[in-house]
Amino acid sequence: MSRGRKRIGTGFSKKRQAGVVSMSLMSPPQGNAPLPLKVSVVGAGIGGLSVAIALRRNGHLVEVFEAAEIATEVGAGIGMQVNALRVLEHWGMRRGNLKGVQYDGIMTFDARTGEGLARRWLVSGMDQGQSLLCHRRDVHDELLRLAVGEGDGVPVKLRLGNKIVECDPERGTVTLKDGETIHADLVVGADGLRSVIRSHVVGATVTAPATGLSCFRSLIDASKLGEMEWLTEGLSGARSIIAKEGEYRLIFVYPCRNGQFINVVAIYKDPHQDDPDWLATGTREELLETFNDIHPKFLALLALADNPVLRWQLRVLPVLDTWVRGRTALLGDAAHATLPTLGQGAAMAIEEAGALGCLLPLGTRREDVPSRLEAYQTLRKSRGDYVNRESLAQGIEPSKRGLYFRSPEVQSYLFQHDAIKDAKAYYEKHFVL
Ligand SMILES: Cc1cc2nc3c(=O)[nH]c(=O)nc-3n(C[C@H](O)[C@H](O)[C@H](O)COP(=O)(O)OP(=O)(O)OC[C@H]3O[C@@H](n4cnc5c(N)ncnc54)[C@H](O)[C@@H]3O)c2cc1C
Repeated sequence: MSRGRKRIGTGFSKKRQAGVVSMSLMSPPQGNAPLPLKVSVVGAGIGGLSVAIALRRNGHLVEVFEAAEIATEVGAGIGMQVNALRVLEHWGMRRGNLKGVQYDGIMTFDARTGEGLARRWLVSGMDQGQSLLCHRRDVHDELLRLAVGEGDGVPVKLRLGNKIVECDPERGTVTLKDGETIHADLVVGADGLRSVIRSHVVGATVTAPATGLSCFRSLIDASKLGEMEWLTEGLSGARSIIAKEGEYRLIFVYPCRNGQFINVVAIYKDPHQDDPDWLATGTREELLETFNDIHPKFLALLALADNPVLRWQLRVLPVLDTWVRGRTALLGDAAHATLPTLGQGAAMAIEEAGALGCLLPLGTRREDVPSRLEAYQTLRKSRGDYVNRESLAQGIEPSKRGLYFRSPEVQSYLFQHDAIKDAKAYYEKHFVL
């Protein structure tokens, strides 16, 4: 058996585990067997696991470095729109494992009067559960299964409790807190809003300024619900409760995990944006006080929230000059963290991972990586930047509020995109001789 083939079958070679990229590894493989790339992914959130899956399936050797000791997601809901599910299905996702609730549209309610209006998605192919409302941990667990479980390629190595503190994007090195430096052919910075990799790629420190908005987040046990017709009547999907008077307030409510929980995101104007603790805890009493003038039927739901309630500042990155440098790329919130108005942050991370998978098949040589990453940027950046800017605009510009629910153009652009098809076509056009 040739060198390259053996490595795919048995996992990382000792040389590569030790972080040594020798000249022989950079030389063309002997025989027909292509060599896998050695890949370092920083962050094991939805974005990091997604790119790990895409590249592992191609036969590359992927290590994921995660600062947290446990690989999990925050206890909250997430809308998985059809454009993201399309990519996950391409990777062999088992839909049932997401335990999703059908997401056929949004019921919008006037916070004061309680009057509601059903808004189905306005583009075709979006009914009968094409999109799902999920618990983040169920999505994360399914991604973990696809990354480290059995399947095509070598299972991903997940290194928990390994915080990356430095990166040399041109050389493809990342350095851990304890000083260990790992060499790779490709580095992907999927390390979220407060990315360390971002400053090395952009060449300057770029932080996400406060928007003046924060949100309370809670998962309410559905068994505690009494009669709440506004939650069950009408279409299967989310409920959006909008305060039309006074300061900006919006409550987004939906069931997840087969209806076992009700996810609540309550967005409000928060004067305490200097607080360095962006992710903190609040109380049910603070939540009720902030929304005290809304219709009693909605307050009855908020009163069921358990203490403590999560409290997040909603921060938005400016559009970055670049997502790539040398053999390093940014992906997900590290590249375009934004408001949750369009519910597309994680979806973009998944699409971006899908695109990288198409642009970096087995056989990609170390010296090809920079041009493939330039292609990734050409293919993906305008879409990520659109979601970043449009989410902010639809959150803060009064004339654009709720446009997402009303605009077939916005929905078509978001939902009907096929990231895999698009990236495959690009790859074939530009890289297949
Ligand atoms: C209220 C709210 C609702 C949302 N709803 C939706 C929705 O319905 N649909 C949707 O698609 N998106 C939604 N989003 C957006 C979505 O949550 C994010 O875009 C997505 O989770 C980002 O994933 P990520 O992997 O890029 O980053 P993260 O989830 O932030 O993951 C980054 C990971 O990197 C790790 N890390 C950080 N620094 C380091 C380091 N130096 N070394 C090693 N590891 C590191 C972190 O511990 C973390 O595990 C919502 C966001 C919010 C705030």
